[in-house]
Amino acid sequence: MMKQKKGFTLVELMIVVLILGALAAIAVPRIVGGAATARANGCATNIDLLNTQLELYFANEGAWPATLSVLTGNIDYFPDGAPVCPVTGSAYSNTLTNNRVTTTGHSH
Ligand SMILES: [Zn+2]
Repeated sequence: MMKQKKGFTLVELMIVVLILGALAAIAVPRIVGGAATARANGCATNIDLLNTQLELYFANEGAWPATLSVLTGNIDYFPDGAPVCPVTGSAYSNTLTNNRVTTTGHSH
């Protein structure tokens, strides 16, 4: 009587591991790259928001704020505090150029 086959052979298990490894090699870089792109887009959105709030400040007050902290420290414009760069975690430059937030150090 032949011995009954049970479970998987070593070759079958190795094929499954190879397939899973190939799938992981494809998926992981895409997931990691997507997060970096999302953070960079978040930085660009923050800069847009700061410039939009600058325009609103000018419309309400009739004058531009001297520095960015005058605007971000005002809870009417930023109730949750000043936004920080999601890539570097640093604050945006306090110096305004032509009444705009500069993108210095934010080339991502
Ligand atoms: Zn940034």
